[in-house]
Amino acid sequence: MTSVLERIHVDRVTFSVEFMPPRDDADEQILWNSIRELEGLDPAFVSVTYGAGGSRRDRTIRTTGRVARETTLVPMAHLTAVDHSVAELRNVIGWYAAVGVHNVLALRGDPPGDPMGEWVKHPQGLSYATELVQLVRELGDFCVGVAAFPYGHPRCADIETDADRLVEKFHAGADFAIGQLCYDAETFLRLRDRVVARGSDAPILPGVMPLTTPRMLAKVEELSGSPVPEKIATRLEPLVDDPAAFRAAGIDVITEMCEQLLSEGVNLLHFYTFNRSKATKEVLGRLGLVPSKTS
Ligand code: FAD
Repeated sequence: MTSVLERIHVDRVTFSVEFMPPRDDADEQILWNSIRELEGLDPAFVSVTYGAGGSRRDRTIRTTGRVARETTLVPMAHLTAVDHSVAELRNVIGWYAAVGVHNVLALRGDPPGDPMGEWVKHPQGLSYATELVQLVRELGDFCVGVAAFPYGHPRCADIETDADRLVEKFHAGADFAIGQLCYDAETFLRLRDRVVARGSDAPILPGVMPLTTPRMLAKVEELSGSPVPEKIATRLEPLVDDPAAFRAAGIDVITEMCEQLLSEGVNLLHFYTFNRSKATKEVLGRLGLVPSKTS
């Protein structure tokens, strides 16, 4: 049973990948092709998100369990407090352990339907991720991760309070954090500074997603909580009618951001893959993180 933390504290640069549970058989095939493609590159861990509905949630358990059973990869399952009583959360955590998953990303989650709608906790549930961190810790020998927000969580008054909240999650027992998608290395590095200034040295992984299509560019604000930085928009927007040129420039932009992060001492990059491996593999290749026989 390998802990994510053991895979982060290595003195070499590495990466992790995030997948979503498959919706159907076709989706499952795409996901497993990506998992197999990336397995050879030895990611530090692979995480699988946790959805809002019942069947999607079961698939997180099934997918992470299969990763644990059938691959050499270290799986991490996401878990949210949305619509769950504490008893149900205990049950899911028990299932994770039963299928061999001992790394959990503990999240509060968003109200189903409208992420900015009113958060209503389950009558027998939890209010904040801090409580879920404590619960997972109580239930066994788990490595626990949490979410971090380089631009500040959208519901939080300001970025200083947001950093206080993140450090509270570390004090509650979280071992590391993964950053929300961010396209500005400086913004991520300033979050790291705020956390260090509060006396915490818990690792924070930047969340990275290659921008390969105009559609993805249009979704950046929704996914990251902030508009595309001007310097990226001015490079990519003129190319929206030329898919090949757009893709090439999108890979360049992300590679350059990763290079800046690595030059500032970041040694683990977390890739949001949307269950595809090609663009992630390309960026990793450009960063020299693909063993030559697999590139
Ligand atoms: P919390 O840390 O509980 O924070 C929620 C809000 O409460 C924040 O505004 C915070 O400032 C505030 N707060 C915290 N503690 C207190 C307190 N004591 N008093 C007052 N206010 C407080 N969502 C999914 O549904 N499934 C996923 O798989 C998933 N994966 C994610 C992975 C990553 C890497 C990230 C960054 C996000 C992910 N999310 C996922 C989205 C996440 O659930 C939402 O962003 C959610 O709004 C915040 O979750 P949290 O765990 O950060 O909550």
